[in-house]
Amino acid sequence: MPDLPIPTAHTHHFSIIGGGPAGLMAAWLLARDGHRVTIYEAGPTLGRKFLRAGVGGLNITHSEDLGRFIMRYGSQSERLRGMIEAFKPDDLRAWVHGLGIETFVGTSGRVFPKQMKAAPLLRSWVHHLREAGVEIRLRHALTQIGKDGRLDMMGPDGAFIISPDRGPILLALGGASWPQLGSTGQWASWLSDCGITVSPMVPANCGFEVAFTAHLREKCANLPLKAVALTHTDVLGNTQTKRGELMIADYGIEGSLIYAFSAQIRDAIYKYGKTTIYLDLAPERTLQQVRDLVARPRKKGRSLSRHLASVLADDIVKKTLLFEYLERDRYDDPDHIAGLIKHLPIQMLATRPIAEAISTAGGITWDELDEDLMIKKMPGIFVAGEMADWEAPTGGYLLTACLAMGKRAASGMARYAAKSANSI
Ligand SMILES: Cc1cc2nc3c(=O)[nH]c(=O)nc-3n(C[C@H](O)[C@H](O)[C@H](O)COP(=O)(O)OP(=O)(O)OC[C@H]3O[C@@H](n4cnc5c(N)ncnc54)[C@H](O)[C@@H]3O)c2cc1C
Repeated sequence: MPDLPIPTAHTHHFSIIGGGPAGLMAAWLLARDGHRVTIYEAGPTLGRKFLRAGVGGLNITHSEDLGRFIMRYGSQSERLRGMIEAFKPDDLRAWVHGLGIETFVGTSGRVFPKQMKAAPLLRSWVHHLREAGVEIRLRHALTQIGKDGRLDMMGPDGAFIISPDRGPILLALGGASWPQLGSTGQWASWLSDCGITVSPMVPANCGFEVAFTAHLREKCANLPLKAVALTHTDVLGNTQTKRGELMIADYGIEGSLIYAFSAQIRDAIYKYGKTTIYLDLAPERTLQQVRDLVARPRKKGRSLSRHLASVLADDIVKKTLLFEYLERDRYDDPDHIAGLIKHLPIQMLATRPIAEAISTAGGITWDELDEDLMIKKMPGIFVAGEMADWEAPTGGYLLTACLAMGKRAASGMARYAAKSANSI
């Protein structure tokens, strides 16, 4: 069990607004060090998005080598490096174990709680916060940010103000996806009005719209497209191929493999209006092997679909997808058919709305923050989690960074409070 010291008269007061993973981690660390902490959360409960993340299996971090892990944050890797090195995936697992939750490494290297769910972890986490004397004020929302750093709040008993004069404040309000779970992104315009630069928030780890025919939608919607390889060339001309699984949705494509490419596909759509991905429907076979199989003489009376069964693992989604693109007058052309099986072009037309995305790209730019994640123009106000301008693929990288930022902000807030006390 984590050992939480009892607060003493020498401690400082800290306000945390937003009860998601980033805010709760900061609260946990500050309370552990004996400080007085109040969490203000707009919703009726804490960690609603975190709980939702546990629905399909909570992937808390990844077991890959730390160097590779850090590179998953793309252009923001160097910004996050120090924070992740100070709260490595192994530290995260040890912290989860300290909350009484066992973890395991899946075949993909992803790390999950043994029960796969978020609820037991969150319950234990909140229990420890309460034990440490953290005051949790639910249904207390931040409603405006003033240029002077004063924050307008609204709770069940009416409006009130908090300001950094009373002690450091952490904003951990999340990004702008799944707003029904609390992260509405309203803070972006409040901060922009205060002269803080916020990069436009756009969907990350999102689905894409494709103009599939009604026939394909009817036949394949909500069915998985397993064991395929996806190739895409990004706006800088770099081509990448990865294997995995997709999902045909009523509007286009979803699933872990498209999420892994979603940042570069999104950026290509923003630049060119649309972009093409290429699917290899038989990645375990070479083009020549596929061609040879396709070119075998077709048995009399056997349909082309039946004939292709062995090449496409008799998979209804792969077959329907292939026929969606096959030219009718080229059913006897093995080069055309094999070419499409190995390199099926699918045009991505738009991202799905940010409200449906797993996470958010964009947010407060790093230039606005100091090393401790304090907003330079608002001394005493710190930021952690998806509010800042970074993104990562799924695989536990999102939660790891949110928690690592919560840790960095907590130590920065403690330092700031100590410095302010000394200067009085
Ligand atoms: C379906 C789904 C599955 C996911 N699965 C995974 C996964 O398996 N692994 C992974 O690493 N990540 C996953 N994520 C992403 C992960 O949940 C987020 O990255 C993470 O929750 C972000 O943490 P945060 O603390 O920055 O913000 P949030 O979790 O969004 O928390 C922000 C909190 O602030 C509160 N708030 C917002 N505005 C105000 C206000 N004005 N006043 C007071 N409170 C406010 C909100 O109510 C909320 O509780 C998933 C996300 C989704 C949607």
